[in-house]
Parts: sequence; structure tokens; C-alpha cells
Amino acid sequence: MKGIKYDAVVVGAGIAGPIIARNVAREGYSVLLIDRKWAIGTPKQCAEGISIRVFKKYGIPYDRRFINREIYGAKLYSPSGYELEMRYKNVSGVILERKVFDKMLAYYAAKAGADVMARTEALDVIRKDGKISGIKAKHEDEPVEIHADIIVAADGVESTIARKAGINTYAPPHEFDSSYEYEMLIEGYDPDLIHLWFGNDVAPRGYIWVFPKDEDRANVGIGINSDNPQTAKYYLDRWLRKNRISTRKLVEINVGIVPVGGFVKELVRDNVLVVGDAARQVNPMHGGGMGEAMEAGTLASRWIVKALEEENLDLLQNYTREWWEKEGTRLERILKVRKVTEKLTDADLDLFIQVLSSADAEKIAGGNYFEVIKALLKNPKVLMNPRRINLLRQLI
Ligand SMILES: Cc1cc2nc3c(=O)[nH]c(=O)nc-3n(C[C@H](O)[C@H](O)[C@H](O)COP(=O)(O)OP(=O)(O)OC[C@H]3O[C@@H](n4cnc5c(N)ncnc54)[C@H](O)[C@@H]3O)c2cc1C
Repeated sequence: MKGIKYDAVVVGAGIAGPIIARNVAREGYSVLLIDRKWAIGTPKQCAEGISIRVFKKYGIPYDRRFINREIYGAKLYSPSGYELEMRYKNVSGVILERKVFDKMLAYYAAKAGADVMARTEALDVIRKDGKISGIKAKHEDEPVEIHADIIVAADGVESTIARKAGINTYAPPHEFDSSYEYEMLIEGYDPDLIHLWFGNDVAPRGYIWVFPKDEDRANVGIGINSDNPQTAKYYLDRWLRKNRISTRKLVEINVGIVPVGGFVKELVRDNVLVVGDAARQVNPMHGGGMGEAMEAGTLASRWIVKALEEENLDLLQNYTREWWEKEGTRLERILKVRKVTEKLTDADLDLFIQVLSSADAEKIAGGNYFEVIKALLKNPKVLMNPRRINLLRQLI
């Protein structure tokens, strides 16, 4: 069996993995980035929407090759059809082409000095004298042993490597959303905005989205609670039928699960780190995880570099501490808000969207919950309703 040795091996070339491989290789350490996909980035399981801020923040070129469309805001629809439009003067986000984006992130890692191996599946960890010393993998059907001082599990929501290393990544089905998505031709929706439909009957615990990739082409998908007796596809198809949207022009179909119910507590065990979806580091409100994976990957890579510099693997534990201090606490707060929103009836959703549509949309769109609550409390139908007041109180 072939054997190779690196300072760090990163399993998974989605979002978190390539960011880590790039950052660590840039500092002169030997890194191997592997992915089981034959073509990194393909297939995609994503609606591909991301904030414009990430490009500068994480040093990613704003390259038109992976930007389908620039987006100027969002439009929210209540169960009875009330609308809340939040439109900015400047570009607020983009709809990526993940098949190109992920591949380019791996390319940036390779350019920074990392080795990259597609079609390489991590199967297990290698243990030597009670310690994990690498990964057993299969590269183009050939077994390969990859030895490394540090192992990163960036292998997505179905992560196996962290579990094999003894990290508890278990969460019950209720803590995941099931998603179903068509990339399809669709007309009649402003292609400069993303569109989100809410309602307990429309998309239980989740929403339906239209994320435009073109004037007349979009990712049209849904996320619902995984333990729902009906499938996500059932709800999406029913909504499309109701809205007389033809499904005769589908250019892609994808399914996926999104961890939206909490985060892996222990992010490091000895020399193994877990990052991104594998650690369930996803915004539980909307299920977006690319930005979170970039942030966690950035924090993790800083501690990997420090641990290698100082030849002290104990320093890796600081990634758990720092992530929980900076990100975990914030995301736990958002999770609390999400759990309160689960209790909203369709009448609440109608009223709240109606009220917010006349409030300061910019402040609300900025995710300022205080502004949202302030605006809602001005309405007598909220103020005079003890159940609604109680719900809002839980958000503070
Ligand atoms: C339908 C859907 C829509 C979404 N829409 C959005 C959105 O619009 N915006 C947003 O920000 N987020 C969205 N997300 C979430 C987003 O896709 C993830 O949060 C993000 O991709 C996480 O990045 P990651 O690097 O942690 O994992 P991933 O991107 O999942 O990458 C993991 C990689 O690991 C590889 N891998 C897995 N196991 C192995 C193994 N054993 N050996 C080798 N390689 C392995 C996989 O092939 C994969 O390439 C969506 C998710 C779904 C399912």
C-alpha cells in the first residue's frame, strides 16, 4: 500500500476544506486536500446564495467565472400573500455557481502550495500507539495511507471522519432540515432579489426559495423539518402546481440535508479538528452554511498554523474555545430565535410580514432583531395579544 506524509490532511474540498488547505499551505506547511468527488464541486447540493461580504473578508477573488448573478436584496411572502421587500442600492449578495466555486477554492489551495487529490475517499483513521496518525483512503480505487500530524474533518453533513476519531457529532433527525431543489427556467420573479415563502402549510419549519441565477433561471427549492411525514419534494411540487409554475424545464435536481438544530460541542479531539457542516456550523435561521464554514475554517487554520509553528498540538484546542466564544454563542442565540419562530401560526406570519413591510426594511434586513421587535410592538394586534407578546419576550 502506498504511504504519504503531510503536516496536515484535510478531508473534504467543499468550502471549509479548501480555505484551511490554502491558509495552512500559504504559511509553508505541507497540506493534502482530498475529496471523494471525481470533479470537485460536482454535484452541488446548495441554493448558492452568499453575502457579498465574504469575498473581501476571506480573501476570495470576485471572479465572474463563479458568479451567476448579483443580488440586491430579498422579498418575503406570508401565507396569505403579504409581501416584505428589502432592496438595497448596492449588491448585497450573489448566487454562485458552486461547481466552479468549490473547484476554484481547491485551485487557490493548490496555488498556495497544497496538494489536491480528487476522487480520493477517506475511509477510516489510522491509529498508532493509541494516537491517530493519518487517514486510510481510496484514491482512484487504489488504497492509500495518508500520514499527517493534523487531520481535518471538513467532510460535510454526513461526516464520518470526526466520528471515527471519537468526536461526538450525533444529532437526532429533528435537528436537520430536508431539502429538495430544482434548477429550472422560471419567470415572473424579480431576478435581482431572492424570494422566500413562509407558511406552516407551505413549508413546515422552513421556507420555499427562488434564488435567481439568470433573468429566467433559478434554484427553486424547499427546506422542511426532516422528521416530517411528508417529503420536501411533496411540498415543493405542490407549491409549484398551486402557482402554476411548470416543471417541464428542469436543468438540475438536487437533494440534501441541512443541520439546523445545534452545533458539535467538541471541535477538536487530540490532533483531529471538525469544521463546517461536519460540525453543524450552519446558521439555524436560514440554513446558510457557506459563510459559517469560511469563518470556522479561518479560525481552525490559524490554530493549525500556530500548533505547527510551535510544535504543540495542544494549541489546537483553542479552535474549540475561540469558535464557541466568537461564533457558537452568536449562533446559539439565533437558534433560540428560530425555535420561537417555529411557534408562529400562519396568522402571526401574515401579521408580522404585513407590519414589517411598513417598517425600516434596511435595519430589519441587517438582521437586527431589536428593530424587528420594536416595529412589531408598535402594532396593536401584537401589543394586545398576550400570546404574541409572550413569543416576542422569548426573543429578548
Ligand atoms: C439544498 C441546500 C441548499 C443550500 N443553500 C445554501 C445557500 O444558499 N447558502 C449557503 O450559505 N449555504 C447553503 N447550504 C448549505 C451549504 O451548502 C453548506 O453549509 C456548505 O456547503 C458547507 O461547507 P462544508 O465545506 O462544511 O461542506 P461541503 O460543502 O458539504 O463539503 C464537504 C466535502 O467533503 C467531501 N467528502 C465527504 N465525505 C468524504 C470522504 N469520506 N472522503 C473524501 N471527501 C469526502 C464531499 O464530497 C464534499 O465535497 C445549502 C444546503 C443544501 C443542502
